[in-house]
Amino acid sequence: MENVIIIGSGPAGHTAAIYTARANLYPLMYEGMMAGGISAGGQLTTTTDIENFPGFPEGISGAELMNRMREQSIKCGTRIETATVDKIDIREKPFKIFSEKRIVETKSIIIATGATAKRLNIKNEDIFWQKGISACAVCDGGLPIFRQKILAVIGGGDSAIEEATYLTKFAHKVILIVRRDVLRASKAMQKKIQENPKVEILWNSNVLEALGENVLEKLLVVNNKTKEKKTIEVRGLFYAIGHTPNTTFLENQLDLDEAGYIKTKPGTTKTNIEGVFACGDVQDKVYRQAITAAGSGCMAALEVEKYLEEKA
Ligand code: FAD
Ligand code: NDP
Repeated sequence: MENVIIIGSGPAGHTAAIYTARANLYPLMYEGMMAGGISAGGQLTTTTDIENFPGFPEGISGAELMNRMREQSIKCGTRIETATVDKIDIREKPFKIFSEKRIVETKSIIIATGATAKRLNIKNEDIFWQKGISACAVCDGGLPIFRQKILAVIGGGDSAIEEATYLTKFAHKVILIVRRDVLRASKAMQKKIQENPKVEILWNSNVLEALGENVLEKLLVVNNKTKEKKTIEVRGLFYAIGHTPNTTFLENQLDLDEAGYIKTKPGTTKTNIEGVFACGDVQDKVYRQAITAAGSGCMAALEVEKYLEEKA
């Protein structure tokens, strides 16, 4: 029987692994095998330079940062299984973890399966992915290729407003592309964006195609009402159309919010089932950063340690 099983291998999972291993809990991590379409290591493996993770003043590539975290987890004593967890049974103790290879029993679980940024799958998206198209303005918006350029954000929710506002710090102008004639964002956020002189809103519009030579240069946009098509010049396109938390394997055994994120007790990583903890993007739809994921991974580890001492 395992003390603790960690499901997921992004910054949250590896931080939880480092802490539980150092507490002599001998953790077992399922790092996933292209789970949710993402390599082991998580979302950061899909990006280039990380410039906002403390400790790397020159920046570090996402893949390199995750390799280092993995190495540190193993060095501290974590065992890593390269498999995706297909389902879990947490209706009674000990909990059971099912993967293609085997069924394992455990006293506690840390869920760190992250979330997947939704993509639009417009024409040429794969060609310009990370060459102008990104799903994270806060992460990539400050890169030199975007400075003083015209940038576009797609979406009308709070994330889109936050990302568009953030981009105005670096961009010459930001075009917010909204598919309807209203914003879904809160009234306060709507006011904020409409008062920002660097933002132009393109209502009733959908992007059909990305165009350019080597990097993104233009977008083909259609007006949903008039069906009129036009090209607009932009050097960056940021999707802010929501994320999908990786929680389907839970089969509704844990309390989730309406968008599918795991509900945790405020200020903790505790779920509604004692002994099951959740950290990182799978339970966070607001901050969604590597450092906040790592921080909550540390919290989960400390809470597991206390739980095992007192209850298990
Ligand atoms: P994730 O990184 O999502 O990792 C979860 C892992 O769990 C994945 O490997 C997944 O395959 C695995 N998994 C899922 N389901 C299962 C399962 N059933 N069994 C086993 N494994 C499973 N943040 C920053 O701070 N700075 C940046 O510069 C930055 N750039 C970004 C660029 C892009 C393009 C994207 C998409 C995000 C970026 N972020 C950045 C956000 C950051 O990547 C996330 O906040 C962070 O990775 C979340 O970490 P996590 O550990 O919660 O989950
Ligand atoms: P939301 O689901 O709230 O908004 C997604 C937006 O993307 C909507 O405007 C939606 O349009 C649009 N969209 C979805 N699919 C497409 C598509 N295929 N083409 C074009 N547009 C599309 O997601 P968010 O990430 O913005 O927010 C998620 C949650 O997090 C919300 O509860 C939000 O309040 C919260 N949040 C809060 C913040 C804060 O308070 N500071 C910051 C960020 C998020 P439509 O409206 O037409 O459906």
